[in-house]
Amino acid sequence: QANRADEAAPGSVALGYKHDASKVDAKKFPAYAAGKNCANCMLYQGKATDAWADCAALGNKQVSAKGWCMAWTKKA
Ligand code: SF4
Repeated sequence: QANRADEAAPGSVALGYKHDASKVDAKKFPAYAAGKNCANCMLYQGKATDAWADCAALGNKQVSAKGWCMAWTKKA
C-alpha cells in the first residue's frame, strides 16, 4: 500500500520504526520494551483494534498496530 510507512525511509530508520516491534534493534533503541507498540501509543491515529493507522511521527503514513518507533508515548 502506497500510504504505508516504509521501514527503509530515512525518517523510519532514524526512529527505529519496524512494522513488527519484535524486529526493533533493542541495542540501538533501548527505549523499546516488549509490550510497547503502535496500538498502545498516543500517536496512533486509529482505534487500538485497527491493524494500520496514520502516525504523525512518520509523516502521517500508516504504521502497523504491531509496530514501534522511538517516539512511542504511552496512550493515556
Ligand atoms: Fe508507532 Fe507511536 Fe512510533 Fe507512531 S509514534 S510509529 S504510533 S510507536
